[in-house]
Amino acid sequence: MPILHEKLHEIYDEVLHRNAGETEFHQAVHEVLDSLGPVVAKHPDYTDAAVMRRLCEPERQIIFRVAWVDDAGQVQINRGFRVEFNSALGPYKGGLRFHPSVNLGIVKFLGFEQTFKNSLTGMPIGGGKGGSDFDPKGRSDGEVMRFCQAFMTELYRHIGEHTDVPAGDIGVGGREIGYLFGQYKRITNRFESGVLTGKGIAWGGSQVRTEATGFGVVFFVDEILRANADSFDGKKVVISGSGNVAIYAIEKVEKLGGTVIACSDSSGYIVDEAGIDLELLKEIKERRRERISCYADERGPSARFIEDSTVWEVPCDIALPCATQNELNGHDAAVLAKNGCTIVAEGANMPCTPEAVRVFTEAGVVFAPGKAANAGGVATSALEMQQNASRDSWSFEHTEGRLAEIMRGVHDRSLATADEYGSPGNYVVGANIAGFIQVADAMLALGVI
Ligand code: NDP
Repeated sequence: MPILHEKLHEIYDEVLHRNAGETEFHQAVHEVLDSLGPVVAKHPDYTDAAVMRRLCEPERQIIFRVAWVDDAGQVQINRGFRVEFNSALGPYKGGLRFHPSVNLGIVKFLGFEQTFKNSLTGMPIGGGKGGSDFDPKGRSDGEVMRFCQAFMTELYRHIGEHTDVPAGDIGVGGREIGYLFGQYKRITNRFESGVLTGKGIAWGGSQVRTEATGFGVVFFVDEILRANADSFDGKKVVISGSGNVAIYAIEKVEKLGGTVIACSDSSGYIVDEAGIDLELLKEIKERRRERISCYADERGPSARFIEDSTVWEVPCDIALPCATQNELNGHDAAVLAKNGCTIVAEGANMPCTPEAVRVFTEAGVVFAPGKAANAGGVATSALEMQQNASRDSWSFEHTEGRLAEIMRGVHDRSLATADEYGSPGNYVVGANIAGFIQVADAMLALGVI
């Protein structure tokens, strides 16, 4: 990893020592510290008040047992997490992830990233993240409901519209948010719609929240293209994943004139040179919850399924990793660059390894980090909170317009900050510094707490 500024190196050493074994968290912290050298040089007050050291320590970490009964009558035990990272700008805000890989280090990396991302949106939200090692795959609706109820039976005492507002993430979509909200409402006897976001439209949800992260990442790329007097027209796009973020990224790319020719799940990927048939993909992945190989079986001769292989071997102009952390490594990055890819934007959180980012930078591939490019999801969650607070509901067009405007702001802020701190065109540096300064200034103003 690159050498850090001396004062930041001390902070990183402390993070390594205090959070042994939490490799994803170390990676996320290093990536931010790596950008902050020029800020530390210009603003010694941030170091004097230990702002960055405080930012690396979550305000509160909650770990709890989740016991529930499966369809066979067996008691199952999972572990629940909520890491309330930073509330300098507003209530903790960030999703819940249900996936067998979830552990404290992963939740902390996500909460840390979320703090900077939320700041970058310019909206009044702090950072947090949570989840469980529960695997919803292959579980019946009844089992998912009982798990969600057991999870919320502990979580409810830690959250609230002015305290901490969770949403979805991997493995947590509309169905899970419904069960979680139902249990919260039952326990508290309050219809407190602002306590969770990603709700259904009929019970306090916002238009565009389901689509927001995928749409947002494509809006962000559209801004990059515009800044280079270009557009999506005729571009070939490859996307990893076929979950919430990937599906709505595909929808928006196709709307803007690009063609998505490949996407994936954890079993392999599909290539469809005619362009992904979104309705078929939604039917298989969203409604039937089946494997992506079914797409190739049902689509006809234009599509094929490649098992246990990486989607990054498919040549494209634009790549959007939208699955999970560290899914695109240095080798994949070199293959993408060699095949002519010119823009990579992270729909997922930290999907590109540090080595991949280095390869993109050296090859002149424009790289947009997740904390800027995928901020549309949380930004629209903040719009849902606004609607809940005013008991209002906005139209799809109005909400999508707000989202596009926010993504333009995140893009412009990242680019302008990169310029100001001597790294023109570097979205990583721009997003990290712009996100940091807003939280850091609020922390200075609030005193040592
Ligand atoms: P979903 O659970 O809806 O979808 C995740 C997708 O990624 C699934 O298709 C899954 O396949 C696939 N996947 C998981 N692991 C791998 C792997 N190793 N290789 C290939 N595919 C894989 O999650 P989301 O779409 O909500 O989230 C995706 C990413 O976006 C995460 O990093 C999340 O943190 C981030 N994000 C999500 C936001 C949101 O609003 N939902 C907001 C901002 C960021 P399978 O079905 O086989 O598991």
